[in-house]
Amino acid sequence: MARDAKYDILFEPIRIGPKTLRNRFYQVPHCSGFGSGKPWSQAGHRGMKAEGGWGAVCTEFAPVSPETDENPYPSARMWDDGDVRALGLMASAAHAHGALAGIELHHGGIHCSNESRQPVLTVSPVAGDGLPIVGQTMQAGDIRRVQEDWVAAARRAQAAEYDIVYVYGGHTYLPMQFLSPFYNKRTDEYGGSLENRARFWLETLELVRGAVGDTCAIAVRISVDEVTPATVPVEEALEFVRMADHLVDLWDVNVSSIVEWGKDAGGSRFYPEGYQLQWTGRVREATAKPIVGVSRMTSPDLMVEIVSSGKWDIIGAARPSIADPFLPRKIEEGRLDDIRECIGGNQCIAAVSRSHHLSCSQNATAGEEYRRGWHPEEVPPAENKDRDVLVVGAGPAGMECAIVLGRRGLRRVHLVDAEAELGGNLRWLTRLPGLGQWARVVNYRRIQLDKLANVEFVPGTRLDAAAVRDYGAAVVVVATGARWAADGLNGVTRGPIPGADAGLAHVLTPEQVVLEGKRPPGKRVVVYDGEGYVTGVGVAELLRGEGYDVEIVSPLVSIAQQSDLNLEGVLIREHLRNLGVQQRTLTTITEIRSGGALAEGFDGPLELEADGVVLVTQRLANEQLFVELDSDRGALEAAGIQGAYRIGDCTAPRTLADAVFDGHRLARELESDDPSRPRPVLREWAMHRAEDVVGAAVG
Ligand code: SF4
Repeated sequence: MARDAKYDILFEPIRIGPKTLRNRFYQVPHCSGFGSGKPWSQAGHRGMKAEGGWGAVCTEFAPVSPETDENPYPSARMWDDGDVRALGLMASAAHAHGALAGIELHHGGIHCSNESRQPVLTVSPVAGDGLPIVGQTMQAGDIRRVQEDWVAAARRAQAAEYDIVYVYGGHTYLPMQFLSPFYNKRTDEYGGSLENRARFWLETLELVRGAVGDTCAIAVRISVDEVTPATVPVEEALEFVRMADHLVDLWDVNVSSIVEWGKDAGGSRFYPEGYQLQWTGRVREATAKPIVGVSRMTSPDLMVEIVSSGKWDIIGAARPSIADPFLPRKIEEGRLDDIRECIGGNQCIAAVSRSHHLSCSQNATAGEEYRRGWHPEEVPPAENKDRDVLVVGAGPAGMECAIVLGRRGLRRVHLVDAEAELGGNLRWLTRLPGLGQWARVVNYRRIQLDKLANVEFVPGTRLDAAAVRDYGAAVVVVATGARWAADGLNGVTRGPIPGADAGLAHVLTPEQVVLEGKRPPGKRVVVYDGEGYVTGVGVAELLRGEGYDVEIVSPLVSIAQQSDLNLEGVLIREHLRNLGVQQRTLTTITEIRSGGALAEGFDGPLELEADGVVLVTQRLANEQLFVELDSDRGALEAAGIQGAYRIGDCTAPRTLADAVFDGHRLARELESDDPSRPRPVLREWAMHRAEDVVGAAVG
């Protein structure tokens, strides 16, 4: 199928300095967890996007010197020839598929800790990121040294055949710290007036352009917004763009500081696609050079609208390119219904925040391109296709497994569920306020299932072990999901909690509230949240919206503590406060009674008055069916069943990304000797000595 002509504008080439971008799709710098330390994985991940049609792919932050390292957060680096070799793999992978390669050369200034044992550098003695450190205020010599490091790193990037070199200031990294009056309290020629505050950035740009500007495009990322006091007023940002325009080939525009990163990498709970345009769309007033902007965009119509308006020339993406590395190709081929749209839940960021490599709720292959050899759009044909597979449970893991099995050509795949609809726990979770876009996980898979003639969804059919054995399938996959504990069970909450019984009128589970419409017998509700993720706050907001007096109580240090990793914690707490939801932390409920609950708070015992308590303490695997099947292997064999496996939350309740991954992996590895265990993955070994790479011994 050819692309719709209305999208032609997205595929026009565009000149950026000495380079030509083949189309308007640009993967902006984003963390991956691979850095320089896992160069093959880095190349595999970015190269896949190049294959999927992105005009350019960029690294994550690449410190220009060890004094701005952020270990243990994995980063790219450009410190020596070893990094040239390592990151050169990524540039080659991009070029092999016709894309440009960009590198986010970076100095974090006060926003870093480092293991070089050197003091963190700061523009002024303003502490950063809540670390117990105050940086060393940069003197003239420090400024020169950092600029020389930037030039040296740019030359290395040039040697590694990068096409686009950043002098990166977004997220209030060092150049932006000089520009921002929030950080810059200097009284010398680098502080005070805008001209003075802009001096460091302008000088660095001039030096980098002088070093590599005829061979590499020079890009600047700058925050342009009114969402945080840490950046600069929009008018000043625009004035800086005018001052620096002759030195810049590409303006990469975003919002906010790294301290409030959740306002930049905004989740779908609070931020619609295109939300940054209200600020960054103004940059056109200051430049005729190409502008790339971001806002979690997956809609080609919105992309066309923006490019046609002239506000941005290029559509930037981080998360949409993770969820679907082939997004541009699918638009080009007129396959819009095959786009795996980002749901904006930020699991990718949560993974990297834990120093893992990224994972994705939509794309099970994200991060697995090299080490598992997975391709997001291709699966190998099954070795023994002549088999029927029964998948019990049509939640995220079951749907993903059935799709991959179908694509691999299994003769027949039956996806059976007790409910009438696809989706498993997402049938009700997506009804919670703020989680509507998570339904994209189901919608994408519904469309894909419909396209597979060998896969059939069988709704409204509850199978017990005997019915599974009698079904006639050669392989059985159990994907029966999880449920919330109805008795307050949770190690953190010391449950089960006396009096916690969801069979009573005043004790409720999230499923009862959302699916069954059960409500407490009075207006006062305590939502007891031992998980600290999306369900507790979602139920609290739902009930508050219906007029209940809601208090969310947690034994954790903060409400929505897990969501801090997704960059949403602070925003959620503010949101609940604005809605009038009371928040109580460090409080453990010890008994639930009619009329309230007894608890241990930070200041001692207390009594919570409530007409009902919603238990959001922990989930339990729905493993009964699998355990029963597995406990009688003889009966399985007698029924002609060659293998019975379980996937997703019925194995262990985990994140959505892990559940989808689990279903995908089993389907890919069905021919393994033991499909229940993952095949070994390729590891990347740091086997070289520094002196072999850079030619100098480390003394
Ligand atoms: S994990 Fe979620 S937010 Fe991140 S790319 Fe995937 S779908 Fe988007």
